[in-house]
Amino acid sequence: MQQEINIVLSPEEAVSEESIKKASALALEIPIKEISAIKKIRRSIDARSRFPKIQLRLLVYTQSETPVEDHYSIDYPDVSGKPPVIIIGAGPAGLFAALQLIELGLKPIILERGKDVKSRRRDLAALNKEHIVNPESNYCFGEGGAGTYSDGKLYTRSTKRGDVQKILTTFVAHGASEDILIDAHPHIGTNKLPNIIVNIRESILKTGAEVHFNTKVTDFILKDKKIKGVICNEKEFIADHVILATGHSSRDIFELLHKKNILIEAKPFAMGVRVEHQQSLIDAIQYRNPVRNPLLPPAAYSLVHQVNGRGVFSFCMCPGGIIAPCATAPGEVVTNGWSPSKRNNPYSNSGIVVQIDLPDLQKYTSHGAFAGLRYQQELEQMAFTAGGKTLTAPAQRLVDFSIDKNSADLPDVSYQPGVITSPLHEWLPPAIGKRLQTAFIEFGKKMKGYYTNEAVIVGVESRTSSPVRIPRNPETFEHVEIEGLYPCAEGAGYAGGIVSAAIDGQKCAEAIALKVKLK
Ligand SMILES: Cc1cc2nc3c(=O)[nH]c(=O)nc-3n(C[C@H](O)[C@H](O)[C@H](O)COP(=O)(O)OP(=O)(O)OC[C@H]3O[C@@H](n4cnc5c(N)ncnc54)[C@H](O)[C@@H]3O)c2cc1C
Repeated sequence: MQQEINIVLSPEEAVSEESIKKASALALEIPIKEISAIKKIRRSIDARSRFPKIQLRLLVYTQSETPVEDHYSIDYPDVSGKPPVIIIGAGPAGLFAALQLIELGLKPIILERGKDVKSRRRDLAALNKEHIVNPESNYCFGEGGAGTYSDGKLYTRSTKRGDVQKILTTFVAHGASEDILIDAHPHIGTNKLPNIIVNIRESILKTGAEVHFNTKVTDFILKDKKIKGVICNEKEFIADHVILATGHSSRDIFELLHKKNILIEAKPFAMGVRVEHQQSLIDAIQYRNPVRNPLLPPAAYSLVHQVNGRGVFSFCMCPGGIIAPCATAPGEVVTNGWSPSKRNNPYSNSGIVVQIDLPDLQKYTSHGAFAGLRYQQELEQMAFTAGGKTLTAPAQRLVDFSIDKNSADLPDVSYQPGVITSPLHEWLPPAIGKRLQTAFIEFGKKMKGYYTNEAVIVGVESRTSSPVRIPRNPETFEHVEIEGLYPCAEGAGYAGGIVSAAIDGQKCAEAIALKVKLK
């Protein structure tokens, strides 16, 4: 017999199997010896009091029953001679679309402009150390996409638990820790993600599917409003179905669609700065204790405040993380963040961004669908200029910024290309800068100690989501004008984050399989 229960324990008790057993017996009002096994199905932290608690949801087995052992490995069928589907982009959307197509008996051909995940490392080192941006291989482009050298947070606002579970178990099947299946806020970490991506690629290749690196799609082959394939410089790839999963930074794809009169639209997005605190300060605030219990993870936070009708919110918070240079072309400074699996760097960073709605793009309306993108580009170029025209990022102490004061100096910051003091309060567009100033003061009221001049803001956080939507039919998932073209995930405006992008990839694959079967 098995029963599902919830128990609440101290961090010390939560790591002791004996304590968990005792608490389970108490909750079920049975003798301990009747418990034959316990399986954890959910783990979360309740840090609302000075003494944080661990909440566990358990399946408790009695009467000698034990859980069936979990097997996560997946047997993918051979798809060598099956109908081909082109996938542009090997980010989470592209990779998970490929696995789903294989499960459904179709042959994915992945075309990726960047390098394989290991070769990408050299280009990241060049970004960090030499300020060199390779427009084909960087923090956003290359195998695994933008999520590879990230914190690997796997939480999503998607309520479709079934879909999320499949993504998580697929990660586990390819080498992620089983902890991600039970943690309320699972994450993988930059050090572990690359190997998982390699394993996913191997699963794909074993089935007879294809993965092509250094293969940038430069044109679409179209006939009578139907897609027939794509061109990568000189080479053609032919297929009746093309998944376009190129991410939010593939500006040349947006330009190409526009040039070919394929409908794209401006969409709301968000921009702001990255803020960095000492992790020990965030721990002290969140756990209400000057020293973090080592059994508790480095603390995260999530903040939001409305200022003059627009949301200002924290985005992609990285406890124990590093601020990364995420430009995809020379002449721009773009930040984001990553953390290793242990989140054990002394810094904590987070994007603090302002919601940008279409009415905020008045100045850019002449750019049509590119209105938001031009605003985004302009802000990134302003940061580049303020930083001294290298990848050195403009930065300012948090309180100084909020009270319009220049910072004479800066504390140490994790951003490896370096920072330079800059009056962000002067050059950030007021619609962003003024709202950030108000929000930081309010955040300081919600988290006592957060509003400190020991914290630094680093400009700019501009790639939170795509400023462009590639519209698709909500039922067939095809582009509203082009048959066989499937705009997918973050770049098309249908996802934000690793898990939701992966789910959208799967959905596009399912839509294609349905169409192929109906033919
Ligand atoms: C530093 C960093 C940290 C992040 N941390 C997290 C996190 O912790 N958790 C989270 O959920 N999300 C995080 N994100 C966001 C997350 O990575 C994205 O939401 C997700 O990767 C989007 O997936 P995607 O497949 O839609 O697009 P992408 O991952 O952007 O993949 C698109 C792929 O398409 C390729 N491509 C583009 N144009 C072409 C072309 N013309 N031809 C061929 N290939 C092309 C690109 O090279 C890229 O590999 C982070 C992002 C960054 C940059």
